[in-house]
Amino acid sequence: MSIVVVGTVAFDTVETPFGRGENVLGGSATYFSTSASFFTDVSLVAVVGEDFPEEHVTFLQSRNIDTVGLQRIPGKTFHWSGRYGYDLNEAQTLDTQLNVLMDFKPVLPESYRDAEYLFLANIDPDLQMQVLEQVRKPKLVACDTMNFWISSKPEALKKVLQNVDIVVINEGEARQFTGEANLVKAARQIIALGCKRLVVKRGEYGVLMFTAETVFAAPAYPLEEVFDPTGAGDTFAGGFMGYLANTGDLSEEGLRQAIVFGSVMASFNVEDFSLNRMKRLEYKEIQARFASFKVLTSFRDISI
Ligand code: AMP
Repeated sequence: MSIVVVGTVAFDTVETPFGRGENVLGGSATYFSTSASFFTDVSLVAVVGEDFPEEHVTFLQSRNIDTVGLQRIPGKTFHWSGRYGYDLNEAQTLDTQLNVLMDFKPVLPESYRDAEYLFLANIDPDLQMQVLEQVRKPKLVACDTMNFWISSKPEALKKVLQNVDIVVINEGEARQFTGEANLVKAARQIIALGCKRLVVKRGEYGVLMFTAETVFAAPAYPLEEVFDPTGAGDTFAGGFMGYLANTGDLSEEGLRQAIVFGSVMASFNVEDFSLNRMKRLEYKEIQARFASFKVLTSFRDISI
């Protein structure tokens, strides 16, 4: 099964304690679709400006990503600048230039409208809603967001959260959106809006997946070298949704396995700047790290 994703395709300028990348390829939809493309077909809905190099589009197509829904319009491509300190869990946004995003009117190609899996990656919630309204009968819809949209468009964002099955969000953003310091209570509040599940990303501390009745926890894979956490959340979401679309297994067990695939994909992405690690990643490495993940988290049943 294929996934339709709407989100940003961007130029990022990123500084970490280990280096700096200027105007490198980034964006929520770029990371998501590249990651998901290891598991399933992906169709991209996004916008870029006249300054966006053809080589980046060629890269996405080389991953078998359908770019018919990638519009190129007059103006400059969305640009995000951020910095990470030694605590790599939280990005500090230095600048956000929406540029062509302000004039973007997503119109889904006819071939996208019967998609069964839809991911509304981090982008203006009004655009997320416009895309959601064009997909006829999706089997599973998930969304992400970030502090920028929580503070600038809280009402539009609330509408999106009320209309999806799964919300994928950072720990800090779950707290910011609800105004609730306790993460479990914040999760309950978001689920009460109407989604069935909430996946909370916690950087190097891993992921929590909540339903109204259950909680599942997965650690982040312990790495010796982390260079650039940019895109870790979107890469996680791409592995998570990609695996679900591949198997069609939406049971609790299937969703837990998808969480681990998402965590495996994110663990690769942070090993290099921009999408550099994803560009040289091979499926057999994903399988090997999944197996290590199983060893990492398995323990005996109680025996006393
Ligand atoms: P993350 O997975 O949260 O690290 O996402 C990083 C990506 O989000 C970067 O490549 C940015 O281009 C993109 N981004 C940053 N700010 C925004 C925003 N306000 N809306 C959509 N995408 C953004």
